[in-house]
Amino acid sequence: MDIEQFRKAGYQAIDRICDYYSTLQQRPVVPPVQPGYLLRSLPDRPPEAGEDFDVIADDYQKLIVPGLTHWQHPSFFAYFPTACTFEGMLGDLYASSTCNPGFNWSSSPACTELEMMMMDWSARLLGLSDHFLNSSGVGGGVLQTTSSDSALVATVAARSRYMRTHPGTKMEELVMYVTSQTHSLGVKASLVLGLECRILDVRAEDEFGLQGETLKVALEEDIAKGKHPFFLIGTVGTTSSGAIDRLEEVGEVLQHYPSIWLHVDAAWAGVTLACPEYRKTAQLEQINKYATSFGTNFHKWGLVNFDAALLWVKSRKDLTDALDVTPEFLRTKQSDAGAVIDYRNWHLGLGRRFRSVKVWFVLRSYGVEGFQKYIRECIELNDYFASLVRSSTNFSLIAAPSFALTVFRLIPHNAFPGVTLSEDLLNDINRSMYARIGARHDILLTQTILNGTFCIRFAVGAARTRKEHLDQAWSLIQEEAGSTIEEWAE
Ligand code: PLP
Repeated sequence: MDIEQFRKAGYQAIDRICDYYSTLQQRPVVPPVQPGYLLRSLPDRPPEAGEDFDVIADDYQKLIVPGLTHWQHPSFFAYFPTACTFEGMLGDLYASSTCNPGFNWSSSPACTELEMMMMDWSARLLGLSDHFLNSSGVGGGVLQTTSSDSALVATVAARSRYMRTHPGTKMEELVMYVTSQTHSLGVKASLVLGLECRILDVRAEDEFGLQGETLKVALEEDIAKGKHPFFLIGTVGTTSSGAIDRLEEVGEVLQHYPSIWLHVDAAWAGVTLACPEYRKTAQLEQINKYATSFGTNFHKWGLVNFDAALLWVKSRKDLTDALDVTPEFLRTKQSDAGAVIDYRNWHLGLGRRFRSVKVWFVLRSYGVEGFQKYIRECIELNDYFASLVRSSTNFSLIAAPSFALTVFRLIPHNAFPGVTLSEDLLNDINRSMYARIGARHDILLTQTILNGTFCIRFAVGAARTRKEHLDQAWSLIQEEAGSTIEEWAE
């Protein structure tokens, strides 16, 4: 493809993307395809001779689009929606057009310096302390691919710091901590690194947040056994229910164990810190006071297209001590002089995507006010949905609504006279209802289990969701609940 052909194909691609978005609402959220649908349609090897791009672009429309789950659909309420924006898309387009793996400052100065500044902008947007800023010269921020990568990087750095400061410790004596509600990224990091991971209990009556006392008891037990606790993941906004660990209590316990690294994972809820009124709930003060590292995703609820996982550390040296491996071919005079950041030493790979462009485009286009407005609107919509659940005699909230997430289940008190609705029966009824909803293509929700209770998660966040879509969703859920009750009555 030459430049003029690219110009033509590029205009066509943008036109088609615009058409896609203007017809999004008429599409099913979930594609009506069966496993293998695409595999059967594609040749099993690449073509011998190159093909015309018009044909390839048409095949994208014909074969790929029908098999997409439309995460930007206004009736997408599953997982945590990814609120992407046209500004973000254009940022990605520009970034990929230069194909620039800016691993060292000198491999593309703009890549490093824009990322440094965007991490400082984002830290200020969220109200993080100055010690997390790149401009502090001590701490700093870096864009990772995912929050799972952020947690893994933090674990590697924490392990390295602990082993350096506690010579003679054996790797098998190390233990890290998560809770039963921590995202699977914690256990995954322990698996990747071959480390012991202790899963701490959290209770429904504490709204599934970690208590200081639980941590204290676990630390005392493990230390008595000769183990070396070195790392804890606390969460602000868990995946299942949006729970928030009690960082004040946790932080106070950790004051007695200064070698333990506290990583706060706020992959989803971290963006609420942009709004001053949510900073107390999201525990900004405690994050600033106690967190050794803090991460949030702009690619979930932060208007930036996947991928954009933001990670800040109090001490950049902890990252570089763990991850700086510099063969001769990667040395530069600016790095030797200590004058620059080389982001290759702040993450696991070498090359990295130029993600800061899209962050820049989005933050400039929305401004702080636009970003806050978006977060507030989503929370208001979720409050509205939660009020519908509350006002129904057939449904109950399973946890207090958290920011833009509602977790609920069907409890048909009066539907089966004379029958005791045991927990097992309620779980089975709710599984049936969820299976019915899951068989539909016009909405997508996800399920979870909290304390043995099967429940349904409803997450607001897709950029085009409005009140009318919540009303539609609610009437559809009620309809499926009615059919479920009829089915079980038989
Ligand atoms: N942490 C929390 C609380 C999450 O809810 C999720 C995903 O939903 C993750 C981490 C994982 O995020 P990522 O896909 O960026 O690794």
